[in-house]
Amino acid sequence: MPDLRQTLAILRSLQDLDRDLFRLQDELRRFPQEVLRKREKLRVEADKLAEVEKKVTTAKVRLKEIEDLTTSQRQRVRKLEHEAGEARADAALHVAFQHEIRTLKRDIGEAEEEGLGLLGEIEKLSLERTALQAAVGELEREFALYSANIDKETKQTRDRAQAMERERKKRGTAELAPDILGQYEKLLASREGQAIAELDGRVCQGCYVAVPNNIYVRLARRTELVPCPSCGRILFLREP
Ligand SMILES: [Zn+2]
Repeated sequence: MPDLRQTLAILRSLQDLDRDLFRLQDELRRFPQEVLRKREKLRVEADKLAEVEKKVTTAKVRLKEIEDLTTSQRQRVRKLEHEAGEARADAALHVAFQHEIRTLKRDIGEAEEEGLGLLGEIEKLSLERTALQAAVGELEREFALYSANIDKETKQTRDRAQAMERERKKRGTAELAPDILGQYEKLLASREGQAIAELDGRVCQGCYVAVPNNIYVRLARRTELVPCPSCGRILFLREP
């Protein structure tokens, strides 16, 4: 087993490596989240597009209904006008025909007004649809490109992390007492990749909190590993 001085030297050498390794692993964790985030953004825009397309379809169906209705109403008006002409001799009947014709013409006018409104709405929706189609297309291209890159980057990052894992072994993870290595690695995980910290003056360089004097005294004796009372990181003093 290495003595305390050697143990600290191994920990410091590991720490240099582990800071970068932690960053790499953090990147690896973030990649899939970023893919999800981009996919979600694409889905939101695609949903908007589907919604607009549904509205266009509904408006077009209604417009067609109006066209069919007014066509048959116009035919009916022509028929009534013909019949009214023939019934001119019968004043009461003639008036009844005229009344029905007026009613029909008013209905046709209202329907045509609704149709005009629908045409305007369809035009507006079509513009919106074009813009959304462009946005969705752009996001799809972006997503495809990102996914392809991320696969490549993930592989490279993983390879680098593996090379660093091998280097860790060389730097003595096998020589360290298992409980010390365990404590160190737990701190790496809980303290963002920074498990050891220099005590500079009386201040821990991990959390920048001043430690009590007895901590410094214990550390200076160099007989035990001393954690920072504030952040828990393993403290070390610069070699004289
Ligand atoms: Zn600290």
